[in-house]
Amino acid sequence: MNQKIPIAFPHGISLEIKREDLLHPFVSGNKFRKLKYNLIEAKKQNKDTLLTFGGAFSNHIAAVAYAGKEGGFKTIGIIRGQELVSKISENPTLQFAQECGMRLHFVSREVYRDKTNPDFLNRISAQFGTFYMIPEGGTNALAVKGCEEILTPEDTEFDFVCCAVGTGGTISGIINSALPHQQVLGFPALKGDFLQDEICIFAKKEGWKLINEYHFEGYGKVNIELIQFINAFFQQTQISLDPIYTGKMVFGVIDLIHNGFFKANSKILLVHTGGLQGIQGMNQKLKNKKSPILLTNV
Ligand SMILES: *Cc1c(COP(=O)(O)O)cnc(C)c1O
Repeated sequence: MNQKIPIAFPHGISLEIKREDLLHPFVSGNKFRKLKYNLIEAKKQNKDTLLTFGGAFSNHIAAVAYAGKEGGFKTIGIIRGQELVSKISENPTLQFAQECGMRLHFVSREVYRDKTNPDFLNRISAQFGTFYMIPEGGTNALAVKGCEEILTPEDTEFDFVCCAVGTGGTISGIINSALPHQQVLGFPALKGDFLQDEICIFAKKEGWKLINEYHFEGYGKVNIELIQFINAFFQQTQISLDPIYTGKMVFGVIDLIHNGFFKANSKILLVHTGGLQGIQGMNQKLKNKKSPILLTNV
């Protein structure tokens, strides 16, 4: 569903937002899309267990836990950070995953860094049995196929489609289904130049660009300006944005509008990829730092 943003922008520019976040409060819209064909493939391979990886506040972990439960799979989450073992009850993401039946297996940061190493995976397999493995962040060719379903025939009028970028799977799907007159703009939520190459693996077309100026110093980092922006946007629109991905992307698009990046009368579609389950965890961290917190209705 697309929703018009009720804010006046200069030069006749208009914004709509695709509410992929409304699919489920704990399962990000894009993570759901990325899992769709992977779950079909896991069934086809007769696997009854899904295994994946993630950090303490991972939207992907929450999504696999929930989608696995819905789809009748057992789920295993390899979680970065051994110290979290004793902190599940303080962590809304891990608590949700566990309530969905996910078995959480905590590993040190060193082990996590090398998590696709065959020795490690063999040990995991000896402990938990065979599984269908979904990469960290969920990006693979089947995930991209799922994300090709984000744009629909109602979206042909837009000149620009904007989304947040983590591993690049979501934007690759959007690029593949965008029309020739549409430019796709990706806003990386992390620092680094590797994403361009990642996207080139899956994206079959030109007509896209990464805007690297709005990562706010890196993955999971926020500042007061971003929090105030997300809260003002919420007060104007009643739409919650997550601080890791969509909040940074929408901040970037609106900043670019004011900097004259878009030509007059551009029609821009923002893809709200969800991530709202992470707000609670972020607000805990902000409270501990005595910082203002994020307003939200989820
Ligand atoms: C994971 C995630 C993204 C990034 O998706 P990629 O396919 O990894 O680029 C964007 N927004 C939200 C809310 C996410 O959870």
